[in-house]
Amino acid sequence: MLSPHFRALMDTVPDGVIVIDGQGTILSFNPACERLFGWTAAEVMGRNVKMLMPAPYQGEHDQYLARYRATGEKRIIGIGREATGLRRDGTTFPMELSVGEALQDGPTAYIGIIRDISDRRAAEQALRNREARLASIIETIPDALIVIDGQGLIRSFSPAAQRLFGYAEAEVQGRNVSMLMPSPYREQHDQYIARYLATGEKRIIGVGRIVSGQRRDGTVFPMELAVGAVDLEGERLFTGFVHDLTEHQAVERRLQQLQAELLHVGRVSVMGQLASALAHELNQPLTAVVNYIKASLRLLERPETVDMPLAREAMEKASAQALRAGQIIRRLRDFIAKGGTDRRAESLDGLIEEAAALALVGARESGVRMELRLQRQDLRAVIDKIQIQQVLLNLIRNAVEAMEGQPERILSITAAPIAVPATAPATAPATAPDGAGFMEIAVADTGHGLDDATMARLFQPFVSGKERGMGVGLSISRSIVEAHGGRLWPERNEHGGATFRFTLPLLPETERNHDA
Ligand code: ADP
Repeated sequence: MLSPHFRALMDTVPDGVIVIDGQGTILSFNPACERLFGWTAAEVMGRNVKMLMPAPYQGEHDQYLARYRATGEKRIIGIGREATGLRRDGTTFPMELSVGEALQDGPTAYIGIIRDISDRRAAEQALRNREARLASIIETIPDALIVIDGQGLIRSFSPAAQRLFGYAEAEVQGRNVSMLMPSPYREQHDQYIARYLATGEKRIIGVGRIVSGQRRDGTVFPMELAVGAVDLEGERLFTGFVHDLTEHQAVERRLQQLQAELLHVGRVSVMGQLASALAHELNQPLTAVVNYIKASLRLLERPETVDMPLAREAMEKASAQALRAGQIIRRLRDFIAKGGTDRRAESLDGLIEEAAALALVGARESGVRMELRLQRQDLRAVIDKIQIQQVLLNLIRNAVEAMEGQPERILSITAAPIAVPATAPATAPATAPDGAGFMEIAVADTGHGLDDATMARLFQPFVSGKERGMGVGLSISRSIVEAHGGRLWPERNEHGGATFRFTLPLLPETERNHDA
């Protein structure tokens, strides 16, 4: 009945091929079908094809054929679809079924081509399982996960990220991830990615850093960011794990500890050291001063017999001892600022960023908006990082405290190299402590500002305008900055608040390369 060519084809194709007539009777069943269904051709020939289908298709197949014959309505013929096959042993398997109508002389015949898609289905299922597992992991990890592409566009935004930033996934998907950053990062992020893709230079990938994020409501918060790069089907994607440092209790504690340590280093221990050293060292000259003055007083009690040269000598000695006491104080102050410091070439931008993020811990409730304006030129200075960070922390904390209760609370930190003046102004002193080659860092607030009385006593140790202030922050900050070769000074700004500026000498360009 079948041509030899067709026979040979039937025997060799890897797909199952079944030929049935208009009533569904099996006319031909190739070897691939035998393997698929577990029946031999001899066993199925002449029987209805529905024996190869599980319920409910089994019961419906006759009607299908009948309807097709009556209406010509094609449900599967010439279309192909996925269906289920029934093996001899009662098990079923997914298959792809395409049916053709053999238009030839004589009675109608249908040819079914069957491909077992168990493997494909299993692979699909495995993929779905894997995705579901991954999704459930992403759902439950406490850290926010953000996936972006090489253009910086957000591909995926985990539920934790949605809670943290206040955006739904649909609102951010396809938008630039820079929307989650405050200025100036927002403007610079595209260049970062472009530079990384072009040069492979890693600034944050695989490093993990403390940076600032911006929520939907505009508030800025400190976060720890770990970025990874993955190649997915030839495309470079970046994954960012965001760890909210305001929310995370343990980390917050760690940060506060760190802050406390910084303050401790600067305030308590240095002040403690200073106090005990002062007490010890000053005791001697002050005792001497008192003794010389007492002696002079005794001499002066009897003016008629006063030994003037002796009295003069005693007063001179008292004065010399008082000067010595002054020198001791000066020496100790220099020691605090210089002593035991660990200076290296540091990137100022990174340092400022980190201090800003640290200072923001706990400032979330105070609703302060932080504006950072950095240069992004990788400017470096030889500094003791902890000390300069402490200066920044002091200034930022003071600013935040000064803004308490103010309607507008904006803290702006600006860092820029001081431009070379075209011609040095005539008023500039010949030995100006800064100018070109210096960086100027300004911390400006919209707080209650500085009245004349405060201004006059700002840098006096132990003078505080606060109930619980120690009043040493600014005097130590100034000592630290001066020990680094810079200056620190206050200004009143146009918002009625205070601006504290300080300068630091930059590492010359030539030395920068050695150090990098
Ligand atoms: P403390 O903060 O412990 O008082 P500081 O030496 O840091 O010590 O500051 C001394 C005082 O200077 C503060 O108590 C406050 O009155 C004033 N001050 C400092 N920074 C500011 C500021 N940004 N705005 C207004 N006043 C400030």
